[in-house]
Amino acid sequence: MSGGYDNDYCPQCGDICIIMFDTKPWELTIGCPMCGYSYKERPLWDRKKQAADPEHRLFYKRTKDERLIYRTFVRKGFGVCHVAKKTGEKNYWFRKHVTQNQINWYQKLIASPDVNSEQSYLTRWNDETQQLETVIGTPINPNEDSREDIKREYSEEESRCKDEGKNLYDFDEGLSDDF
Ligand SMILES: [Zn+2]
Repeated sequence: MSGGYDNDYCPQCGDICIIMFDTKPWELTIGCPMCGYSYKERPLWDRKKQAADPEHRLFYKRTKDERLIYRTFVRKGFGVCHVAKKTGEKNYWFRKHVTQNQINWYQKLIASPDVNSEQSYLTRWNDETQQLETVIGTPINPNEDSREDIKREYSEEESRCKDEGKNLYDFDEGLSDDF
């Protein structure tokens, strides 16, 4: 794999999310452990070609002139439940608004003896206030350590843009053709 990962502010809730990228070919994934927002940008796979291949290798769909076809997939965050068991952690990302039944169910799960309740939490997205709410526990962002790094990167970028007479929030440059 050629790529890496970085942290940035989540476009939905503003907390720290993780960005993973691959450069050959260009793929980008954004995931927020607090609200559950996810974003993916990748070339389309050719499922028919893969099914016909004896080794089931992965093929990309291409245009007539052999270019990859990119799509973006965005999933709104409805909240997450983070369950810290003694044997490992589990994350549940909600795909719809969280119901009271779900909250009750997770509350029982978190209260069970093999779960570390202090490190477990449940959040939900409120459409009216456009804010993330904490329903159970105290959420700790696993990317918390990156907060200072992001602030520094932003202020460095901001002063560089100022020197060049640009606005930090002008995104008209787009992705480079190298990808
Ligand atoms: Zn978020």
